[in-house]
Amino acid sequence: MTTAIYPGSFDPITNGHIDVVTRAAKLFNNLVIGIYNDPDKRLLFTLEERVELAQQAVASLPNVEVQPFSGLTIDFASRVKAQAMVRGLRVSADFEREFDMAMMNKRLYPELELVCLMASPEYQFLSSSLLKEVARLGGSLDDLVPKHVAEALRKKEGA
Ligand code: ADP
Repeated sequence: MTTAIYPGSFDPITNGHIDVVTRAAKLFNNLVIGIYNDPDKRLLFTLEERVELAQQAVASLPNVEVQPFSGLTIDFASRVKAQAMVRGLRVSADFEREFDMAMMNKRLYPELELVCLMASPEYQFLSSSLLKEVARLGGSLDDLVPKHVAEALRKKEGA
């Protein structure tokens, strides 16, 4: 039985994240999306909102669940008995950041393997922060997020 975590801020979940989730769910028996409570970023959505939006987005995937977490990612991994951690890689900037985090996590929890999935070409450019900017300025969110996320963004941003 293999379990993997897919941790992140998910502020909010995008089609790029969902693409990674869908592909990772085929590789592992269980995938736990971990929503980090207090990332080093300005957040638009509360923890509860981010969890709810992610839950709705993956409701059709039976082996995927969503859990909030705080503290170290490796402690979350150990709590859900994960053998692997999934992350998505877009451009080279993601790689350097992931590499540093992976080295640190390896020191702290050597048993946890990092599995990086390359972002699909259509989502290479897609980030939650860019998405929030587009929403704030009233741009179209079609094909970037599920409908319920677009509605939540429009409500927040008043767009
Ligand atoms: P974090 O704050 O940990 O970077 P994010 O919610 O921004 O959290 O992203 C979570 C994970 O999803 C990270 O591994 C990130 O690189 C990946 N990711 C973000 N956007 C995309 C995308 N468009 N395609 C593939 N992976 C992505």
